[in-house]
Amino acid sequence: MKTIGLIGGMSWESTVTYYQIINTVVKEQLGGFHSAQCLLYSVDFHEIEECQSNGDWEKGAAILADAARRLERGGADFIAICTNTMHKVADSVQEAVSIPLLHIADATVQELQKNHIATAALLGTQYTMEQDFYKSKLHQAGLKVIVPEEDDRKTINYIIYNELCSGIIKENSRQSVLRIISELAEEGAQGIILGCTEIGLLVHQKDTAVPLFDTALIHAQRAALYALDRSI
Ligand code: GLU
Repeated sequence: MKTIGLIGGMSWESTVTYYQIINTVVKEQLGGFHSAQCLLYSVDFHEIEECQSNGDWEKGAAILADAARRLERGGADFIAICTNTMHKVADSVQEAVSIPLLHIADATVQELQKNHIATAALLGTQYTMEQDFYKSKLHQAGLKVIVPEEDDRKTINYIIYNELCSGIIKENSRQSVLRIISELAEEGAQGIILGCTEIGLLVHQKDTAVPLFDTALIHAQRAALYALDRSI
């Protein structure tokens, strides 16, 4: 089994999900007392969020590159960055190490294609919904991507940073996100990418008939299967 190197803490609320899913998949695959071999470097999210809101992506990249190097030195065979937004600096993180980086958008594309989704809506932070670093990966794979309109993007961004990253789950926020999801489905989205690793803490597949693609689950599952050299 390969050793997984997780860069987590962005926020730690969703890193918990990664740890649970990775171990669950390894147990399902191998049975018995098997669990994942993994290392976690959990950053101080205060520092990362400051880099984001100051637009200092270089500093953010340096923090994550340092984390990746520590994981490589510790024996990780590959790296997973446990957040969508900081994949803005994924190339710098990959350049810092000689082990592979399992990109969250690549994992998501594979899952969308497996489910024959051609048009998907993307929910995430404003960075993820509005900038190109994430959407370009989806476009390159031939997918059509829709994002919510501006007010709804602000609402989702607010819920992520002011509630979900602090472990606050509110019913009215769940209803807002579900309303946005059904409007996006009416606009033609065949599936909804929960392109923020905390959104899956708020909305679940049982809440809506529209297919949801939770990037934290998808990424963690793929990491576990990759560690086991199993195909998806
Ligand atoms: N975890 C979130 C994401 O997947 C947002 C927090 C962050 O800014 O990293 O984008």
